Amino acid sequence: MADCVFCKIVAKQIPATVVHEDEHTLAFMDIGQVNPGHVLVALKAHRENVYALSADEAAAVFRSVARVARAVRDAFAPPGLSVYQANGQPAGQTVFHLHVHLVPRHEGDGMALTWPVKNPPREKLEEYAAKIRASLPG
Ligand code: AMP
Ligand code: ZN
Repeated sequence: MADCVFCKIVAKQIPATVVHEDEHTLAFMDIGQVNPGHVLVALKAHRENVYALSADEAAAVFRSVARVARAVRDAFAPPGLSVYQANGQPAGQTVFHLHVHLVPRHEGDGMALTWPVKNPPREKLEEYAAKIRASLPG
């Protein structure tokens, strides 16, 4: 896609610091480095978000995520690692080409995800689940 920064990285039209490449995915250093070792795993094909992935593409992305996550762990020995993927602006997505963040985590590193739990009653869980089940294909 012409205007997409990650398509340009995949096409080697702009520089990136690559850590892993295979047929379907490219893993490279996030330019912002929330913590040292922060890597992005992107699908090579332009897909805007998780909704657009085929089963094979989803498998390819998570295969690379697991592979590169182990390498980040071995290289940096962080006490934690966040796997983060945003879909849509309210979720924090800023680059609209499917990618997964691997962020090494440390106590007090300032990376925050507020988690405002509602703890609804079981009936609510059943109600929400029924809606999702009804929307699952075949
Ligand atoms: P997200 O908010 O999940 O869409 O994340 C987009 C990420 O892409 C941000 O963490 C940026 O730092 C990163 N990013 C944007 N442009 C580049 C680039 N040219 N090379 C590497 N990382 C980039
Ligand atoms: Zn793209």
